[in-house]
Amino acid sequence: MTDLAKLSFPDVQALLARAGGCAAILPVGSTEAHGPHLPLDTDVTIALGMARRAAEKLAIAGRACVVLPAVAYSVTDFAAPFAGTLSVRAETAAACLRDVLAAALATGFRPVAVANAHLEPAHIETIRKAIEAVRAQSGVDVVFPDVTRRANAQRLGAEFQSGACHAGRYEGSLVMADDAASVKDGVRRALPEVKISLVDAIRAGQRNFQEAGGTQAYFGQPAQASAEEGRATFEVLATLLVEALSAAPDGARAAPGRPAP
Ligand SMILES: [Zn+2]
Repeated sequence: MTDLAKLSFPDVQALLARAGGCAAILPVGSTEAHGPHLPLDTDVTIALGMARRAAEKLAIAGRACVVLPAVAYSVTDFAAPFAGTLSVRAETAAACLRDVLAAALATGFRPVAVANAHLEPAHIETIRKAIEAVRAQSGVDVVFPDVTRRANAQRLGAEFQSGACHAGRYEGSLVMADDAASVKDGVRRALPEVKISLVDAIRAGQRNFQEAGGTQAYFGQPAQASAEEGRATFEVLATLLVEALSAAPDGARAAPGRPAP
């Protein structure tokens, strides 16, 4: 695992000079309420966890990859009624992503990918807008395996597919795997299931978790979460990223079984 923020500039020069170059992954999360049991930085923890594991997998395949410092602010209108949630305007979020992605490409990283763990549709739209703007400016496609797309969601378990995918079993398991100390486990184990699809609630025009029936800012089954399930889910998330990076034009040499020259 190589976090860009922990490198010196000669370290980065050396990585970029390698045959095959160096890929980069931008973890993207949010700062928002995740029930009474999970920390506000849940999405950042998940995005970092998938990015670091993907970078490790690429390193094993002979391909250099750095993990960029995570983006921790975006549009979080659904969690806005809950204390500690910090939402920024969509145009701010899109502009920040656009500039960071463009800077990574200008530095010479190829391919560049987004590892996103914040699932609010207005936020995902900011990622799409940023990627479009970067493509218009540079002609380069940023890699973005969107977990909310059906083909990807099908690999992420029943609760995720049901749309009850906020601070429940899925996200709780991932945080337990990578940041167990920040989980209030006694609270988590006592939480009853909230069997409501956020996907359906959003389609019905509901604007925040309370309107959708999540009065404590969680959905699904937090009590069923486990670190073991989280580690297995991280494997799937990291594999989605590696597959997408390997399929990118500049990522051909990262394909499994084809070591860098
Ligand atoms: Zn989340």
